[in-house]
Amino acid sequence: MKEIIIADKQKYLNEHYPFEDTPELMDKKLCIHCDSVFYVGNYKVFKNQSGDEFICCPNAPDCNGTVIDWFPAEDNQ
Ligand SMILES: [Zn+2]
Repeated sequence: MKEIIIADKQKYLNEHYPFEDTPELMDKKLCIHCDSVFYVGNYKVFKNQSGDEFICCPNAPDCNGTVIDWFPAEDNQ
């Protein structure tokens, strides 16, 4: 997997976020793989050899969590 640098992260998210209610870059999410809370805007994008792109946890490649592993963060975190 090769990391891709995204110039306009909000636009990319709007176009590639797999669920409804696309989050904003300043929203916080919890990654259940590495159990850390992060700002959505810190996400990374990786591309596999087939050309498929994955929205990944900011802690990638140490964490293999992707956008489907993101849960709403508690307000007090
Ligand atoms: Zn993670």
